[in-house]
Amino acid sequence: MRLLIMGPQGVGKGTQAALLSTHYGIPAISTGDIFRYNLKNHTPLGVKAQAYIDRGELVPDDLTNSIVGDRLTQADAVQGWILDGYPRNAAQVDALDAILTELGTPLDRVVALHADHDVLLARMSRRAKLEGRSDDTPDAIARRLDTYERETAPLLEVYRDRGQLLEVDGSGDAESISASIIGILG
Ligand code: ADP
Repeated sequence: MRLLIMGPQGVGKGTQAALLSTHYGIPAISTGDIFRYNLKNHTPLGVKAQAYIDRGELVPDDLTNSIVGDRLTQADAVQGWILDGYPRNAAQVDALDAILTELGTPLDRVVALHADHDVLLARMSRRAKLEGRSDDTPDAIARRLDTYERETAPLLEVYRDRGQLLEVDGSGDAESISASIIGILG
């Protein structure tokens, strides 16, 4: 199973990716987690990405595309994967298409999670208190949501046109959302 999980900040992509990962026995790959790991360990990638992340901007595509390309060729990704937080703009859709063509491993489905703006803001402010992420400042949160609306939300149309989009209400409890996704995916 090769899946994308898409949706705005706070909708529960990471939670659903983790539950689906356990269910299907395939890795959940989060570009945000990869960047945070690199920030924490002060790697060259982390150093390059830091300022973008702290401002709530997208990290440049060349960096992001190459970490995804590398990650998808690792041994644990052979059986499948769930990508969380990628692609986020049209150029990343093209890059992912090229990566998957080269690997000969087409995408199966795209799960799009939806929730009202006030649900998203409430979850993000709760998470900001719990996790203390450097990009959970009001300015960076506003910029991330704005970038999602402008650059990422339109990508749902691309996958709808390809007949791969599965739209799911993300406002309920995590276990029942995951059960309904699994019910549809099989
Ligand atoms: P959120 O979805 O709440 O913004 P993520 O953990 O997915 O959080 O991402 C954190 C940050 O990492 C983003 O604001 C961005 O700077 C960077 N990032 C993650 N995924 C991508 C991506 N696909 N393209 C560019 N930057 C990304």
